[in-house]
Amino acid sequence: MLIALLPGDGIGPEVITEAQRVLDALRIDGLTFEEALVGGAACKATGHPLPADTLALAKRADAILFGAVGDPDCDALERHLRPEQAILGLRKELSLFANLRPATLFPELADASALRPEVATQIDMIIIRELNGDVYFGDKGMRKTPDGKREGYDIMSYNEDEVRRIARVGFETAMARGKKLCSVDKANVLETSQLWRDVVIETHTEYPEVSLSHMYVDNCAMQLVRNPGQFDVIVTGNLFGDILSDQASMCAGSIGMLPSASLDAAQKGLYEPIHGSAPDIAGQGKANPLATILSAAMMLRYSLGLPKHADRIEAAVAKALAAGARSPDLGGSHSTREMGDAVLAALT
Ligand code: NAD
Repeated sequence: MLIALLPGDGIGPEVITEAQRVLDALRIDGLTFEEALVGGAACKATGHPLPADTLALAKRADAILFGAVGDPDCDALERHLRPEQAILGLRKELSLFANLRPATLFPELADASALRPEVATQIDMIIIRELNGDVYFGDKGMRKTPDGKREGYDIMSYNEDEVRRIARVGFETAMARGKKLCSVDKANVLETSQLWRDVVIETHTEYPEVSLSHMYVDNCAMQLVRNPGQFDVIVTGNLFGDILSDQASMCAGSIGMLPSASLDAAQKGLYEPIHGSAPDIAGQGKANPLATILSAAMMLRYSLGLPKHADRIEAAVAKALAAGARSPDLGGSHSTREMGDAVLAALT
């Protein structure tokens, strides 16, 4: 089993190092790693954020463990050469259409949530975001109106196949959890959302055991902070999912805690923390590596068929937190390495 390690920029290499130490400690037979440049690091070395060698490795590997991309030095580059294009390119090239973001609050971190502890402790959900369509991938551009004013446009669209395949991921995920799926759209205003809702309802007939509800995105944003305990699995489009999943992350404590998986139709995936390259703390040993360590656990569960090893990592993270391990984002002073050490100590 080959893992492509793509550390990227900023704190990416720091958090990937800790995740690799944890994976090494599990001594999984046949697990090998190959590392490649991506993002700003790749741009500086090769002139492109997603070099052909890196893409080839990602295609060849059984799974990809990704740090983060983004480098202020590259902000002036043309858009297609910016580090962030690497992650969009990987999603597109590998057909990673389903983004799974669990938001679970470790009880020890109730005080770190932006919500009151008694509300925060209810959080235990997965947000499933469609990743290959919607307004991010539609026709876009700048033009002039007839009276000479500048106008920007981005076309939002989904076809029924795209909606059906992500709806199935939502229903399957709900079947493996609490059998409750909430589909989030804006069907009162958008035709794209009306189609989304119609197709989700049609797909429901394949999963009669799942209780399906629908919610408008504005209401969902409000309900996530008012009563997050009502959600088990949320399925939504690319734009709404981008915003709601970041919101859920702050409800669940720190952005440094939450993992994610981006899967293709065969469950091959790219696993990454939900945070970015955090240039403000890069190189200072302040980054929380737990989101990346938990992403490695998701990789073992979803792409490598090793759920027991995934359970071991998640239990070790909980134990490390219970023992008092806290990086600065969690209100403590543990360094990135010390957080990794705490998880390793809890594993053994
Ligand atoms: P960010 O997630 O990098 O940082 C936001 C804030 O959270 C910062 O204050 C940062 O210090 C803190 N933070 C993030 N991760 C942390 C961790 N593990 N431990 C402790 N604190 C942490 O978002 P940003 O500042 O908006 O973006 C920085 C760069 O990252 C940009 O170039 C952006 O485009 C890029 N980015 C990349 C990805 C990705 O690689 N998938 C995702 C989001 C942003």
